Amino acid sequence: VNRVQVGENVRRILAELPRGVRLEAACKTRSPSEVQQAVDAGVEILGENYVREAAGKFHLIKGSFRRHFIGHLQRNKVKKALGLFDLIESLDSISLAEEISKRSASLSITAECLIEVNSAREKNKSGIYPEETLDFARKVSGFGNILVRGLMTMGPLTEDPEELRPYFRQTRELFEKLKQMRIRGCRMEILSMGMSSSYRTAVSEGANLVRVGTAIFGPREN
Ligand SMILES: *Cc1c(COP(=O)(O)O)cnc(C)c1O
Repeated sequence: VNRVQVGENVRRILAELPRGVRLEAACKTRSPSEVQQAVDAGVEILGENYVREAAGKFHLIKGSFRRHFIGHLQRNKVKKALGLFDLIESLDSISLAEEISKRSASLSITAECLIEVNSAREKNKSGIYPEETLDFARKVSGFGNILVRGLMTMGPLTEDPEELRPYFRQTRELFEKLKQMRIRGCRMEILSMGMSSSYRTAVSEGANLVRVGTAIFGPREN
């Protein structure tokens, strides 16, 4: 995909998203110049899966943008991640929350996180099972130096976005329930669901943040 197309893709998707739904470019494996093109076309949030990749890329991008971590975060990368990212979308275990809380305290910051929900209860995927999410939210919101700002889910890998609808719906229901619970340290503001092939479905189920890679940058080369 050439430079012109990246910009066109971004503008087309931005025009299509309803008011209040934000677009995050999922930038794994994309070059700084590709990412720059997306930012120049109006992308305001960049998502990265790997701390090291983000560290080598963010500082090369000009303009203003938010930085989100969307990969699986290892405990030994937490300190570095806190210096690089505005939001960790993939809080997926108590031990990770403990490490984030501890490191944030020593930096005198509050780490903003989304809880990653393993909505399809897939054994090989990280994330909190739906039935454990309320408890998990209560627990980590009690940790000092962590502010939970919402939920993120991936759902199973599938070609058919309709297969994802029940998982998006269930995550939205958890989001609403947590909002009603009014837990201290837990604000339900961001619902991050949907990728290139599924963002329309996710938006129709209440997502207000969509993470899009391929539909912006084209297929990834491996
Ligand atoms: C890569 C990635 C995306 C975007 O996937 P595409 O299908 O390329 O749009 C979204 N979320 C996460 C967590 C990812 O790793």
